[in-house]
Amino acid sequence: MYRHLVKSGRAKVSKVALNDNSCGWVETLPKRNDIRRLQGDLRCEWVVIGAGFAGLAAARRLADLYPQADIVVIEGQRAGEGSAGRNSGFAVDTSPGRVGDDETMKSKALTSYVINMAGLEYLREAVEAYGLQHTWDGNGKFHCAAEPRHAGNLEKFEEILQQLDIPYEWLEGERLNRRLGIPYYHKGIWTKQAALVQPAALIRGLVLHLPENVRLLEETPVEEIEYGDQVRIQCRQGRVTADKAVVATNGLLGEFGLFRGRMMHLTLTASMTRPLNTAERYRIGDPDPWGILSAHRMGATIRYTSDRRIMMRNTAEYWPGLAMSESDLAARRKLHLKAIRARWHMLPELEIEHTWSGVVAVSRNFSSVFAQPAPNVLAVGGFNAGGIARGTGLAKLLVDQYAGVPSAALSEAQKLAPPAILPPRPLLDIGARLNVMRMRAGAGRE
Ligand SMILES: Cc1cc2nc3c(=O)[nH]c(=O)nc-3n(C[C@H](O)[C@H](O)[C@H](O)COP(=O)(O)OP(=O)(O)OC[C@H]3O[C@@H](n4cnc5c(N)ncnc54)[C@H](O)[C@@H]3O)c2cc1C
Repeated sequence: MYRHLVKSGRAKVSKVALNDNSCGWVETLPKRNDIRRLQGDLRCEWVVIGAGFAGLAAARRLADLYPQADIVVIEGQRAGEGSAGRNSGFAVDTSPGRVGDDETMKSKALTSYVINMAGLEYLREAVEAYGLQHTWDGNGKFHCAAEPRHAGNLEKFEEILQQLDIPYEWLEGERLNRRLGIPYYHKGIWTKQAALVQPAALIRGLVLHLPENVRLLEETPVEEIEYGDQVRIQCRQGRVTADKAVVATNGLLGEFGLFRGRMMHLTLTASMTRPLNTAERYRIGDPDPWGILSAHRMGATIRYTSDRRIMMRNTAEYWPGLAMSESDLAARRKLHLKAIRARWHMLPELEIEHTWSGVVAVSRNFSSVFAQPAPNVLAVGGFNAGGIARGTGLAKLLVDQYAGVPSAALSEAQKLAPPAILPPRPLLDIGARLNVMRMRAGAGRE
C-alpha cells in the first residue's frame, strides 16, 4: 500500500475548477436554491471528494453497502458544474477508440466494455428507481463517416462488435439520411446498448435522490489534504476529519498527491443552438433525437437532443488552464456554427445559444486510476472522454473491491494498468500539442 500517494502524506491543492455559467446543459435547467456548504468543522466515517459521475457513484455504492455509515460528499463547485455536466452525454457501451488487431487490444476492448456496461447498468437502475427517465434516452448511438475513406474505421469497429457480441446495425444512404434528417453522412453503425443523457440533469437527479446517509456539501473547495490513520481535509469554510476517503476529482487527482505526473488535460469546446421551431423540425423530416460519434477520433460529436436543439463539439486542444475566456470561446463558436451550417444548410437562420469548454483527463496509455493507495483511501479518475459509464462503473467497482463484493466486472477492472508516467514539461507540452495537431489534420469533413 501507499503506492502512488505523495510521500509526505500531505498535499496542498492549488488548482480548482470554477463554473463560468456558460454550459448549455446546466444553463437550461431551473436555478437551484438548495445549496448546502460546509460550515465549521465536521467528523464523518467516509468522505468522498468530487460530485461528478465517479464521486456520486462511489457515494451511492457506499450507502448501499454500509447503510449505517455517515458519508459526506464534498464538491468545490455545484455538483455537475465540472466535466460531468459539460460533456456530450454519450453513456457508451463501447467505442472505436478501442479498436485494434492484436489480442491485447481485443482483451482491452472487452475490459472496457464490461466496465462500461457495469456503469450503464448502475446508472440505469438509478434512472428507473428515481424516475429520471427525462434525462435518459436508451436508444443507442451512431458512429458515422462522412467521407468514404473513413468508413474503414467503422469496419474495424464492426469486428470488435461481432467479437464481443454487441448488438449493432448498419445504416447507409437514404435510410441513414432519413433517420438523421441531414444528407451528410455516407455510412453509420448504430450500437444499441448505449444511452444519450442530459448530463447536468442526470447529475441533478442523482443529487436530489442521494441515500439518507449521504450528505452533499457544495461550493466547498478542498484546499489541503492530509493522509494518515484519519484523512484530514482543510476547506475554505472549515475542516473535515474522516476515517476513510474516496478521492474522485478526475484529472485533478495529482493536486491531492495521487498519481502525480500521470494524467494531463485536453480541453474540448461545444455549442448548443436554440430549440428548432415546428417548421424547422418538419423541414428536416422531424427525426427522433440522436447522437453521432465520428468515425475519425478528431471528428465532430453531435447531438440532436430531445428538446430539439443541436449540440456540436468539434474541437480538442492542449490548453493551459482549466477554462477558456469569452473571446477564446467566441473563436470556437465560429467553428461550431460552420460545422452546423455544413450539415443543416436547410436551416440557415439557426443560431447558437451556448458555448462552453470542459476538460477531459487523459493518460499516455489511455488507462484510468482504479486504486487503493492507502488502507483507508480509494482513488478513481482519468476516463478520457468516456467517464459517464466508465467513471460510474469503476467507482462502483472500487467500492465493491474495498467491501469484498466479487463480480466478473470487478475482475476486469482489476486488470487495468495504472496510468503511465507522462514525459516532463516542457517535453510534454510540445509532444501533446504536436500530437493533437497531427490527429486533427486527418479529420477532413468529419
Ligand atoms: C466537452 C466534453 C465532452 C465530453 N463528452 C463525453 C461523453 O459524451 N461521454 C462521456 O462518457 N464522457 C464525456 N466527457 C468526459 C466526461 O465528462 C468525464 O470523463 C467525466 O465527467 C468524469 O467524471 P468524474 O466524476 O471523474 O469527474 P468530474 O466530472 O470532473 O468531477 C470531478 C469533480 O471534482 C471536483 N473537484 C476537483 N477539485 C476539487 C477540490 N479541490 N475540492 C472539491 N471538489 C473538487 C470538481 O469540481 C468536479 O465536479 C466529455 C468531457 C467534456 C469536457
